[in-house]
Amino acid sequence: MINVDKIREDFPILKRTVHGKPLVYFDNAATSQTPQIVIDTIVDYYSNYNSNIHRGVHTLSQEATDKYEEARIKVQHHFNAKEAYEIILTSGTTNSINIIAAGFASILQKGDEIIVSALEHHSNIVPWQMLCEKTGTILKVIPMLEDGSLNMDAYHDLVNEKTKLVFCNHVSNALGTVNPVEEIIAKAHAFDAAVLLDGAQATPHIKPDVQALDVDFYVASAHKLCGPTGVGMLYGKEKWLQKLPPYEGGGEMIATVSFEKTTYAGLPHKFEAGTPNICGGIAFGAGLDYMNAVGFDNIASYEHELLEYGTQELLKIENLKIYGTTAEKTAVISFNVGGIHPYDIGAILDKLGIAVRTGHHCAQPIMDFYQIPGTIRASFSFYNTKEEIDIFVSGVKRAVGMLS
Ligand SMILES: *Cc1c(COP(=O)(O)O)cnc(C)c1O
Repeated sequence: MINVDKIREDFPILKRTVHGKPLVYFDNAATSQTPQIVIDTIVDYYSNYNSNIHRGVHTLSQEATDKYEEARIKVQHHFNAKEAYEIILTSGTTNSINIIAAGFASILQKGDEIIVSALEHHSNIVPWQMLCEKTGTILKVIPMLEDGSLNMDAYHDLVNEKTKLVFCNHVSNALGTVNPVEEIIAKAHAFDAAVLLDGAQATPHIKPDVQALDVDFYVASAHKLCGPTGVGMLYGKEKWLQKLPPYEGGGEMIATVSFEKTTYAGLPHKFEAGTPNICGGIAFGAGLDYMNAVGFDNIASYEHELLEYGTQELLKIENLKIYGTTAEKTAVISFNVGGIHPYDIGAILDKLGIAVRTGHHCAQPIMDFYQIPGTIRASFSFYNTKEEIDIFVSGVKRAVGMLS
């Protein structure tokens, strides 16, 4: 059970007002808010042991190194990776995907096929298009259906001996659809293709077990998990991380350097060139600890209640259409009302202190499918309340009254 009043006390930002109204923060799918314990972790780092890691003989550097490596182990345990060195700390989901895409550029050949889903965030589309331009690899797309799910019959037809990699989000950020990732992975593996799951939108609601999923790569961002921006993770099975070449060259990622030949460091350092976001990595670990203390089962069931309540209340508004109506979805409601432009409703909601996202949500192919310019997206977190949903729904009604 969630004690939401107590949880809200942990998030200082929830006490602020916007345009004189109490903040109602429903843009959690873009970034989550930060609990005091994570803020304290950041302050503690810069106040007490700020220094560079992995190379210092001095105490501060050793303390920072220990905390940073502890954070890696927290991430390892959270995702149930077999080894800590299978966790690469990156600057976020986008960076993680680019590391994998750049690595595959040296593996894939002309005529090989890779498969993407129609529900992707641009950061899981564009790096692969860039790769295809370079290598002559062919990009195939799993089409979507009206309810915001993937056409799995089409997927089964797309996979064949030429398929080398399938990449897809675990949960769609634009619609909240939870994709049938087990089925996607099983089929790909039957043809020896690797699978990358973009977990940026799943991880705030679901605790993934990468070994149980048997997924080859899994990526996520700390800032959607109560952590800071500019840090994230890339899980890769050891055999894949050994096989892929490093992404960037520099300090930290080498074993020896000479002008004749440089040899690379072992995992995970091979993929961590330069000074990382040390404080961010440590705070990422603190965010995961916080969410695990709340408990992902509690989070999922409470958010589901919010989703059902929000959906039911919004559907009372005339001409309101929700996009993404599968049974399996996270607490995201993407909608439009009649022909009103989503931005206009979003701007009025902001005046009422309500933060939502409007637009294409970095997923233009989904908007093209529905032939709309964008949606209003309300995304809930475990610190939101039904009272906030009431304020939001009456705000939408007010905006619609003003605009129609
Ligand atoms: C947020 C998000 C991303 C991008 O994450 P960054 O932190 O901006 O790199 C990618 N995919 C999905 C599904 C997302 O929700």
